[in-house]
Amino acid sequence: MSDNDDTKLVTGGRRKEWTHGVVNPPVYRASTCLFDSYAQLRERIADPTAKQLFYGRKGTPTQWALEEALTELEGADGTMLFPSGIAAVTTSILALVKAGDHILITDSAYEPTRTFANGLLKAMNIEAEYYDPTIGAGIAALLRPNTSVVVTESPGSLTFEVQDIPAIVAAAKENNTYVITDNTWATPLFFKPLEHGIDISIEACTKYIGGHSDAMIGSASAVGKAWRRLQRTAYQMGHMVSPDDAFLTSRGLRTLGIRLKAHEENALKIAAWLKDRPEVATVLHPAFEECPGHAIWARDFAGSSGLFSIVLKGGDYPDTAAMVDDMHLFKMGFSWGGFESLILPSDPTSSRTTAKWSAPGPLLRLHIGLEDTDDLIADLEAGLMRYSRHIGN
Ligand SMILES: *Cc1c(COP(=O)(O)O)cnc(C)c1O
Repeated sequence: MSDNDDTKLVTGGRRKEWTHGVVNPPVYRASTCLFDSYAQLRERIADPTAKQLFYGRKGTPTQWALEEALTELEGADGTMLFPSGIAAVTTSILALVKAGDHILITDSAYEPTRTFANGLLKAMNIEAEYYDPTIGAGIAALLRPNTSVVVTESPGSLTFEVQDIPAIVAAAKENNTYVITDNTWATPLFFKPLEHGIDISIEACTKYIGGHSDAMIGSASAVGKAWRRLQRTAYQMGHMVSPDDAFLTSRGLRTLGIRLKAHEENALKIAAWLKDRPEVATVLHPAFEECPGHAIWARDFAGSSGLFSIVLKGGDYPDTAAMVDDMHLFKMGFSWGGFESLILPSDPTSSRTTAKWSAPGPLLRLHIGLEDTDDLIADLEAGLMRYSRHIGN
């Protein structure tokens, strides 16, 4: 196996026994798997986690190929696939907690992660406490004897604070606490969580890894004890990914390297243009100094992807309608990571509890796609002018 990610993206999961001589593992549609003999049935029952046909829910070469490719990229002991990114997040947390535990979640977490913690986890008598995403080594003061997990997400996918993962991991390990991360923004190409001591690295493959806005899928890759617990919990929960979605995601993975570099380059160009605009107060992009945690990003990450936010000057969310309703290329939608550009007015106020969100104007989250950047800039320029006119500047 090569040490280089570009090669791993191309070769991952393509075992001959799974491809039977074609390039990609085919789509195996299966519920029932047939056994040749009672002896074979008993052998397969004895080793339920082996990658051999047993029952559709345990996967086929279509899913195993994707799992194996992700395991190589993440440097994990193994990977479980999930029907969505949020199922990967919730099952990873469930794998590591029990009633009476306390967990710490970054205040910048993806909102449905909070909803799960404040709903189902609370009902199971598991207490979630939120912490400042820039806390770093200060997390030590919040760790309790019953803190079983620290949930990180770096950068936060709305406000882009970059977290000091090595400092958080060091403090958590002292307390025998697991640390998991939602690595969707960076993908394993730009940040390798497990190399920094994280126990479970989660990807919403719905975003960049699938990359074509047509499949819902999540993954969690883990090491050591966390891997064994994750695997057991995911089986118990009955999680399963359709072979079509696994196939599409494997296909997306092959071009992740070049797509991500193009998203990065386009986003940097557009963020730099936005930084000089009179309508823009702040560019929240980890590669820019004004982004909280920029120095940590520069230390730990190999690149930046296509998702960032801007805070506008003056005006309020209703004023943004004049801008976003008439965009030609930037469409409004949640699930970023595809080839297309997106724009989303999004107010962090209701999902912040450690500090009140304060900003000089509304926040817009942008996903920069693979369109020509001059066309994208022209679209944004006309939009910003509509915004200013609307607030009467
Ligand atoms: C989209 C997203 C998820 C959830 O993925 P789904 O496949 O939509 O469930 C989790 N974390 C982050 C950071 C995301 O952007």
